Amino acid sequence: NSKLKTILITGGAGFIGSNFIPYFLEKYQEYNIINLDVLTYAGDLENLQEVENHPRYKFIKGNICNKELVEYIFKEYDIRGVIHFAAESHVDNSIKNPGVFVETNVNGTYTLIDVAKNYWMEAPFKYKDEYKDSRFHHISTDEVYGTLPDDSNILFTEETPYAPNSPYSASKASSDMIVRSYHHTYGMNTVITNCSNNYGPKQHDEKLIPTIIRNALAGNPIPIYGDGKNIRDWLYVLDHCKGIDLAYHKGKAGETYNIGGRNERTNIYIANKICEILDELYPISTNTQITNNQLTSYKDLITFVSDRPGHDRRYAIDASKIENELGWRADENFESGIVKTIKWYLEKYNE
Ligand code: NAD
Repeated sequence: NSKLKTILITGGAGFIGSNFIPYFLEKYQEYNIINLDVLTYAGDLENLQEVENHPRYKFIKGNICNKELVEYIFKEYDIRGVIHFAAESHVDNSIKNPGVFVETNVNGTYTLIDVAKNYWMEAPFKYKDEYKDSRFHHISTDEVYGTLPDDSNILFTEETPYAPNSPYSASKASSDMIVRSYHHTYGMNTVITNCSNNYGPKQHDEKLIPTIIRNALAGNPIPIYGDGKNIRDWLYVLDHCKGIDLAYHKGKAGETYNIGGRNERTNIYIANKICEILDELYPISTNTQITNNQLTSYKDLITFVSDRPGHDRRYAIDASKIENELGWRADENFESGIVKTIKWYLEKYNE
C-alpha cells in the first residue's frame, strides 16, 4: 500500500527492538516497518515470531555498516524515518573485544545517518519536500555520562557532560556526537534518547537479570560482581518503548531526552528480590533441576565474584524533561516489572 510510510528499524531482533516492533506495529496502522539486523549472537528472530507474517513488517538480514545495502534499502522502500537500535551492547564484551564496538556503534551509525541525509536532503542543508518530516532517532544509553558516587543524590540530566568509561559507552558516546553533529551541521531532524538499564522479556542471557534467573532455576551459583553494591536505574522495557514512541513522534528536532525509571537498586538487592519471588512462584522443593536438598532458598546460590574492570559505581537518570515536555511516565516500578519478567522466563524455561 503506497499510502503507508515505511520506517527503517535497525537491530530489531535484539532485546529492546523486538519488544518495540510488535508494540509499534499494533499502535500505528500507517507504517510499514523494515527491520534491518545482521543477527549477531545477540539477535534472535524467535523474539519476533509474533510478527513474522505481519503484512506491514519485513525483515532484512544485513549489516548497518554496509553502505550499498543501506542505500539500496532507502531507495527500494522509500524510507521515511529511522529508529536506530542496532549496536554491540554488552559492556563485558567491549572489554574483551572493543574493535567491533567501534565498527558497529560508531561506523555503523555514521553510515546510516549519512545515507539518510543524502536520501532525504538536497545539497547538504535542505530537506526535499516529501521528506521534510523524516526523522532519524538514535537510541542510546545513560552510560555515556560516566559514573556517579553512590553516596550522592546527583542524577544524570541532558546537560551532564559526557564521560564514558568503558569501550561500550565510549562507542555509544561517539555515535551520539555524530548524530548531534548532523543536526547542527546539516540541519537534520534528529532525536536522541539516552536510557537507563532495561529489563523484561526477550533479554539476552548474558545480561544481569536473565543470568540471575537462569542460574537460580538451574541451581547454579548466581554470580554478583564485587560487593554487589553497584547501583543501576532499572526501566521495564515496555516503558522504554513508550518513551521512544513519544520522542520519535513529539520530541523536538536536535534534542536529547533521558529516559529512566527512578528505580535505583543495587545489584545485590536485585538478586535477593528475584530469589524471593522465585521462592514464592517456584519453590526450590518443587524444582526438579535442583538436587541439592541443603538449599532452602534460591538466595543460598548468591556468590560474589571479582569485580568487572572499570565497573561504574552508580547510574541514575533525571527523566523530568521527557516527563514534563512529552508527558512520559513509567507504568512499572522495579518490583512490579520484575514479577512480569520472571513469569515470562518461567514460561520460557518450562516450554
Ligand atoms: P541487543 O544486543 O539485545 O540487540 C542488538 C541488536 O543489534 C541485535 O539484534 C544484533 O543482531 C543487532 N546488530 C548488532 N550489530 C549489528 C550490525 N552491525 N548491523 C545490523 N544489526 C546489528 O541490544 P539491546 O539491549 O536491544 O539495545 C538496543 C539499543 O539500545 C542499543 O543501541 C543499546 O546501546 C541501547 N540501550 C540498551 C539498554 C539496555 O539496557 N539493554 C539501555 C540503554 C540503551
